[in-house]
Amino acid sequence: MSAINGLLQAVRKLHEATPELCDYAPWPDDLSSQQVLPEACVASESLGVRSLRGTRATAPVIKALRRAAPELHWKQTYSEAEVGRRFLDTYGYVELFGPEGHFRSAKLRGYIGIWGPDLTYDWHDHEAEELYFTLAGRAVFAARGAPNAMMRPGLARAHMTHQPHLMITLDQPYLAYALWRGAGLDGLPRMVRP
Ligand code: ZN
Repeated sequence: MSAINGLLQAVRKLHEATPELCDYAPWPDDLSSQQVLPEACVASESLGVRSLRGTRATAPVIKALRRAAPELHWKQTYSEAEVGRRFLDTYGYVELFGPEGHFRSAKLRGYIGIWGPDLTYDWHDHEAEELYFTLAGRAVFAARGAPNAMMRPGLARAHMTHQPHLMITLDQPYLAYALWRGAGLDGLPRMVRP
């Protein structure tokens, strides 16, 4: 099995075994492989040696991600002017499945994202509804109209359409599996004023 297929299968197993993920959206039944060329970022190049401690449930995804990292297309959708150099040097995400993912789906978008320690991902929003599921590390999540929450491996947090949200990572890199569903599936997040 290719490393990317191995990652997809590890994510699928986690998704289907996790009620919060299944209840949010069923695993997409329209996946088809599409050609997406590898693209590295600073964070992906050091992924193999990063300490990323998950749970028994999330560890297989972390292991598969390390293996697949060089073959994945890592994206950064913000500029240095928006988020600063250190953010860009420690953050990156992969669209595993979705409109532009390694596996195409028109129903659901699934990302894996990493953020370095002690990083503030400032207020942003997007049209699609979102669920973050923590794979490794810890982060404080804030969202307009919701109490702050500490996220750690195995915990999920939802954001509604256009609900501004912010994330502050703690002393370890933060790794998450994120789902987008509904209108705006092929959109992008943008920074907003709180
Ligand atoms: Zn979001």
